[in-house]
Order: sequence, then structure tokens, then C-alpha cells
Amino acid sequence: MALVRNWQIGREMSYWYPENRPKKQFAAVFDINKCIACQTCTLACKTTWTSGKGQEYMLWNNVESKPYGCYPLGWDVKLLNRLGAQEWDKASYSGQTIFEAAPAGERVLGWRPGERDYAYPNVGEDDCAGSVEKGASLQVPHLIWFFYLARICNHCTYPACLASCPRGSIYKRQEDGIVLVDQSRCRGYRECTRGCPYKKVFFNPLTGTSEKCIACFPKIEQGQQPQCFVNCIGKIRLAGWISKPDQARPENPLDFLVHIKKVALPLFPQFGLEPNVYYIPPIHAPKSFLHQLFGPAATEAVKTYQAAHSDADLAGLLSLFGCTQQVVPAWKRDGDFIVGLTDDAKEIVRVPFREPVHIAAPFDDKHQVARVNCP
Ligand code: SF4
Ligand code: SF4
Repeated sequence: MALVRNWQIGREMSYWYPENRPKKQFAAVFDINKCIACQTCTLACKTTWTSGKGQEYMLWNNVESKPYGCYPLGWDVKLLNRLGAQEWDKASYSGQTIFEAAPAGERVLGWRPGERDYAYPNVGEDDCAGSVEKGASLQVPHLIWFFYLARICNHCTYPACLASCPRGSIYKRQEDGIVLVDQSRCRGYRECTRGCPYKKVFFNPLTGTSEKCIACFPKIEQGQQPQCFVNCIGKIRLAGWISKPDQARPENPLDFLVHIKKVALPLFPQFGLEPNVYYIPPIHAPKSFLHQLFGPAATEAVKTYQAAHSDADLAGLLSLFGCTQQVVPAWKRDGDFIVGLTDDAKEIVRVPFREPVHIAAPFDDKHQVARVNCP
């Protein structure tokens, strides 16, 4: 085991390999408050990459309703139970990561889902926590809640799938930090499906190998965002590059949201993988639940998000989500517009702060046509 620095848990930790960060790290921000669980992302991925035989239960992208939804069954609660107490000392995690809690002879604390665990992708959908007494009316703020959690592989800085593989079949690309399975090396031992705490590696019984989200790397190589991003109806997603906190650049949209505004947080940072999908937490879920999912910074992140209306930069940048197919490595505010830029400052997209409102006249003289039923 090597000692590596994990900034998300504010300390060093043990990992199977020495620290070896890629030149650039693929990352994403998902604004949970905007997700409508339409599953367009799920289908966009499914039809692009996993429509073949042996891939029937594979959902590289899935969207589950929290707190009760989970795919595969209980992926999160089973590991949380095994891991035991997960205390934080302010921003430093004082519990054990899944690498530190690994049983003797194993590299990672994990569990392997069985067939039944993959049988119910929509379990718990739209089930809310809490209840309303018979005869009571809904109050605002109300006690019942749920939200949609869209999930893909996190292309972790310290991937548990990679650490678990006895064949060395899983690798992290130096050029973009994307984590891939080398199909020619994999022998289907399924240590990765046991080790990944997010359960984002899947076994294909037909080929006898493991497969996982590839972050649409052929698109990333062309400067394009992945399929699940560009098809997202709710415009909740932004793909890009993340720096280490001490190298954060405000002109990089992801650095701005994650490191400068601290409004987007990793999922289960206490597992210790330094995952690279960052979530803007939902504003209406209980603090304790958000704390468990996103760590102790969740409360502040919600406050920052709720105050975005008086922060022109933050509000403006949030309107850049879903506005272009291209990866946007840089941005700036230009009056009432937010501008997405290439690395060499060429304009990719220009988004107004507020969409203009056009009110059509009831009768269009030019075309001699009534635009509404009741002129
Ligand atoms: S989310 Fe799982 S499959 Fe993806 S890189 Fe991390 S450990 Fe590997
Ligand atoms: S396409 Fe977007 S809005 Fe629809 S479920 Fe997926 S992440 Fe949510």
C-alpha cells in the first residue's frame, strides 16, 4: 500500500498504487435540483453503447430516486453498513476509507451484487421519505421529500475497480483521466464489480469480461461532451476538466463551481476514491442525509446555491449547462451574457442571463394569420 493525498477527505490515505495523477482529469458537475428523471440520459447511453446481447442489465448511466431508489439493489446502504461509523473532524474525514477498511488479504472493502440485485432498476422510483397524516394538507416547507440522483462512473482519481483487478486490466488514461477496462486482458474475475463502491462496472456473461462507462472518450477526444450530457433534457450536466484545489483556475467552469464557489460536491467522499462527478445537492433534502451523501460541506453548498440569484457569476455560469455540445474549458461574464471559450479564448457559445420574452401580436398583419384563438 502507498500513502496518497486525497483532497476530498482532507488527508492522506492508503491506496494500492502510488499517486499518479493524469495530465488532465475528466470531470462533471450535475445540478440535482434540475433533474426530472426523464431517463433520456439512460437511454442515450444504452442505445449508444450497451444495446448488445449480454448487456441487458447494464446501465452505465442510471437515475434513481433517493432515498429509496438504488441500482443495483442497496448499492450504497450495503457498503455504508459494512464501513461502520463515518465521522468527520470539520473538513477532514476521521473514519476509514474502503481501502483502509479492506479485510486481510483483500485490497478493497466491497461486495459483489448478484443477479437479483440487477433485476429492479426502477425500485423506489418516486417513493418519498416521510408521510402525510390522513386529512392533513401539505405544508411548505414540507416534511416529505425525494430527489433524483443521476449516476455514471466517476472516473475516480483512486479507482477501486483498478485497485481490485488482479490482472491489471483496468487503467486510467494519462491524457484525460478516463478509467477503462482492457477487454483483451480481462478474464472476468469480477473483482472490479466487487470493489467499485458505486457499482459502475458490470459483468457481461456472454463475453466473460467486465465493461463500464467510457465517458464517451471518442467524443471527448473530439472536444465534445458525452452522449448523456448533450441529450440531458433538464440541462443538469456540464462536462470539463478539474484541477487540484491548489491549482484551481477561476476561468475553468468546473474549478469555479467545485473549488471556488464550493457549490458542487463529490458523492460519498468518505469512500476515499476522489470521484470526479460533482453534485450540486438538492435544496429540500434533510441536512443529515446530504451530509452522509456529500460530506460536511453540503450545508454550505446548499446555501450558496440558494443565494445564486444575487451572485451574477454563479447564476450566469449555471445557465451555461446544456447549452453546447462542446466541452467548455474556459468561461467569462460579458455584461448580461455568459461566454463559453476554448483554451485559446475563442468563443464557443454565448448565453444570455435571461431569455428574452417575445409576445406575439394576436393577429399577424404580414402573414394575415391569427396567432391565438381569441384575437
Ligand atoms: S466509479 Fe467505480 S468503475 Fe468508475 S472509476 Fe470509480 S471505482 Fe472505477
Ligand atoms: S436526461 Fe437529465 S433531466 Fe433527464 S433524467 Fe437524465 S440527468 Fe435527469
